[in-house]
Amino acid sequence: MRRPDKQRLTVLGASGSIGVSTLDVVARHPERFEVVALTAYSRIDLLAQQCFRHRPRYAVVAGAADAKALAAKFSDAGLDTEVLTGPTALQRVAALDDVDTVMAAIVGAAGLAPTLAAVRAGKRILLANKEALVMAGALFMAELRRSGATLLPIDSEHNAVFQSLPADYAGSFAAKGVRRILLTASGGPFLNTPLEQLLAVTPAQACAHPNWVMGRKISVDSATMMNKGLEVIEAHWLFNAPPDRIEVVIHPQSVIHSMVEYADGSVLAQLGNPDMRTPIAHALAYPERIETGVAPLDLCAIGRLSFERPDSKRFPCLPLAYQALAAGGSAPTLLNAANEVAVEAFLDGRLSFLAIADVIAAVLDAVPSLPLPDLDAVLGADRVARVAAAEAVARRPI
Ligand code: NAD
Ligand code: MG
Repeated sequence: MRRPDKQRLTVLGASGSIGVSTLDVVARHPERFEVVALTAYSRIDLLAQQCFRHRPRYAVVAGAADAKALAAKFSDAGLDTEVLTGPTALQRVAALDDVDTVMAAIVGAAGLAPTLAAVRAGKRILLANKEALVMAGALFMAELRRSGATLLPIDSEHNAVFQSLPADYAGSFAAKGVRRILLTASGGPFLNTPLEQLLAVTPAQACAHPNWVMGRKISVDSATMMNKGLEVIEAHWLFNAPPDRIEVVIHPQSVIHSMVEYADGSVLAQLGNPDMRTPIAHALAYPERIETGVAPLDLCAIGRLSFERPDSKRFPCLPLAYQALAAGGSAPTLLNAANEVAVEAFLDGRLSFLAIADVIAAVLDAVPSLPLPDLDAVLGADRVARVAAAEAVARRPI
């Protein structure tokens, strides 16, 4: 039943870290939000719990066996959530007529097609899935302009930049006196680990982020700083920011989530405890502000905020991302795909931590960057890079 006073939501990737935080905020404001669809690829038991709690019209899973088991569970309990399967179902629930807002929180390239479906349907898109924008930035932004969809950044850095830019910022640094975007980075778990020790790093160590609790892929990206590289590319597209005006600053406390520097020397920042419910709630309620359960920031208890420049020897993935952004065309698509393959190989114990950057560099060297006129070209570049990356992984002794 449609309730016109509520914001109607699809959460793509509901069972993930961002999905769980999103539903936590939603549950605090039942008068504001109605959940229409939830999707998950794994952790189906968690998805089932979420469905019993939020009673969506649709639940989407990947496999037929999962779908059957879930449908039986719902029918036994008298819950009338319909279970759908497969990639086309993801696109369908992202573009439903009566959905207002889509939280795009699938990890990696798998999120591109459903997020683009939401863009094409003119939805309000809350973008956590940075890989979609990195791999298809020009196409994504062109589709957004064409459909009139609204894009609100969930990534904490981009949400902070969004909050620190003028409300009427329309993509022009010059018109609004913006000089630079300063993206902060915690430096991850290995900021001070001696380089020679990085060779033997395990997935568990790489996933133990000092400040944020996140999914495994983004945790490894944070440890290599490819996450920041992807975020530089994400900032380029979101804010129409020239690459040489996007600077990365290491800030280990993760209290300042990012900053905008203006021509008059002013630097505006957004601060808060490192808890994704803040940017999620900001985007969900924008332009209003709502409660999140996030603890108030106690600056005196934190005591000190520190900053340093990133070391490109320790974090070669960061210059690789700038290199791909400068090359343009399909280079960011290749970078993203090679990174996904390398991170998966590292998490499976088939690649050493330090070789992640080598695999990405090998793919950028071997595969030429081509123009990306349409989605087929994006998906083609993604496929070629995955094959080249798998070969590069197979060549590396661990
Ligand atoms: P996660 O691994 O915890 O969750 C990913 C979600 O995507 C899960 O629901 C999973 O079931 C689903 N999924 C995975 N593969 C899929 C596939 N092939 N098809 C359909 N669904 C699939 O990841 P996360 O940490 O929640 O991150 C999600 C996205 O948000 C990523 O793009 C990440 O970079 C971005 N992000 C996360 C954080 C964070 O704090 N976790 C912060 C900023 C940005
Ligand atoms: Mg981030």
